[in-house]
Amino acid sequence: MNKPMTPVLVAGGATLTEKRRAAATTPAPVATPAAPADPTRGAHAALGSPGAGALAAALAQFDAAADHLDLDEGVRETLRAPHRELTVRFPVRLDDGRVRLFTGYRVQHNVARGPAKGGLRYHPSTDLDEVRALAMWMTWKCALVNVPFGGAKGGVTCDPRSMSPREIEALTRRFATELEVLIGPDSDIPAPDVGTNAQTMAWIMDTVSMHRGYSVPGVVTGKPMAIGGSNGRADATGQGVVYTIEEAAKRRLRISLPGATAAVQGYGNVGEATARLLHQAGVRVVAITDIGGGVYREDGLDVPFLRRFMQERGTLAGAPGTEPIENEDLFGLDVDVLVLAALEGQITAANAGRVRARILAEGANGPTTPDADPILHENGVAVIPDILCNAGGVIVSYYEWVQNRESLFWTPKLINGRLRESILAAAAAVWEREDADGIDPRRAAHAIAVERVAEATVLRGLYP
Ligand code: NAD
Repeated sequence: MNKPMTPVLVAGGATLTEKRRAAATTPAPVATPAAPADPTRGAHAALGSPGAGALAAALAQFDAAADHLDLDEGVRETLRAPHRELTVRFPVRLDDGRVRLFTGYRVQHNVARGPAKGGLRYHPSTDLDEVRALAMWMTWKCALVNVPFGGAKGGVTCDPRSMSPREIEALTRRFATELEVLIGPDSDIPAPDVGTNAQTMAWIMDTVSMHRGYSVPGVVTGKPMAIGGSNGRADATGQGVVYTIEEAAKRRLRISLPGATAAVQGYGNVGEATARLLHQAGVRVVAITDIGGGVYREDGLDVPFLRRFMQERGTLAGAPGTEPIENEDLFGLDVDVLVLAALEGQITAANAGRVRARILAEGANGPTTPDADPILHENGVAVIPDILCNAGGVIVSYYEWVQNRESLFWTPKLINGRLRESILAAAAAVWEREDADGIDPRRAAHAIAVERVAEATVLRGLYP
């Protein structure tokens, strides 16, 4: 059952006025291209390296699933460690003529089920541990939704928000060149993640194609449509989040989406599409936050207007007809659905008890720490775990990769139909396992995924 709580947001009350004053006097974040720590990383920033907490969380989730499965010791050791790691340092000329050295990573966690697959992140806190965690989650995600890929992730420690488009392009082309020892349509296929987008993928595809002497569209997914991208890929992660929310609401809560309420943290690739598609499905989206601030409206936000406002101003903060709201208040809103679509380590043991949403949808990777899970479970919050909830992106990335191999293009209808079928089949398997084994949905999702990767590992045997 949900814990009764005092409302955290008092419309028109002193709390909001104080917050408005505080927001007006808080200086804008200073851009530091290679800053090691970032206070927005929630609980994880407190544990040594910025990514140490994310890695600890990924390992704890794996250990729990391995214990549940009573996994063979040798297989367990193999699956617990990343298969291959690359760290590169490379210089980029900035617009003012200076040269700055950047550090980038690519980690392939496991390739037992197919080529390595996973996004590239550009963020000040990105480090090897974070990339290791994200690569491991990709392995489980691909296995859970049954796409024939292994798991990988990469990134560069940088702050794209403080860099010009020319600097980002130069960084991307050099990073792509450094990654060429690993990436390729048959070996390792990057995609967008935090701080990267379709344009980043276009530059990588072009760089690799220039070096090979012919177009290699299948080296990345999440490309623009004009150069071999797929219908539906831009919205795929958000679309998958909405499909799983719709099904969870129907099956677990016996409610339908029209008339339900939602709050969304993060307004990037995933959060924007999720908010827009929830709004289109008749959900009253009452709050959205992003790095520049948050907006709240009890009657429901005008989501299409906010999209235009964001495009014009680059921030949600100050949108007409809205009140400001911060993350911690958004987490405590009395809504049907709370969507986390920003970064890792947002819901922890310290704030999990404040969550009043009936469904917590993990659009982001690792937004909930392992010590928060039992609290959410006890309070009756239905968690849609990240490796299921945000798998729409990799499912449609798989379709894009298949289309590139065949030089054929599928229609939006075909793609969305297949995406829906595929992610809901995985959701049904998770909920069946949850009921059958009496475990929480995260452990059920990991148990299914680890079992599949373990099976592939054992079947392939040891080389030589
Ligand atoms: P993005 O860079 O497009 O967006 C990130 C968003 O988070 C931005 O709106 C940013 O303002 C916001 N944000 C950052 N710090 C915040 C804070 N402290 N409070 C509130 N908002 C904050 O990244 P994205 O691609 O949308 O990825 C978001 C999450 O989803 C990540 O965990 C990523 O790994 C995961 N994910 C992305 C995809 C994809 O297809 N892009 C697929 C699966 C999972």
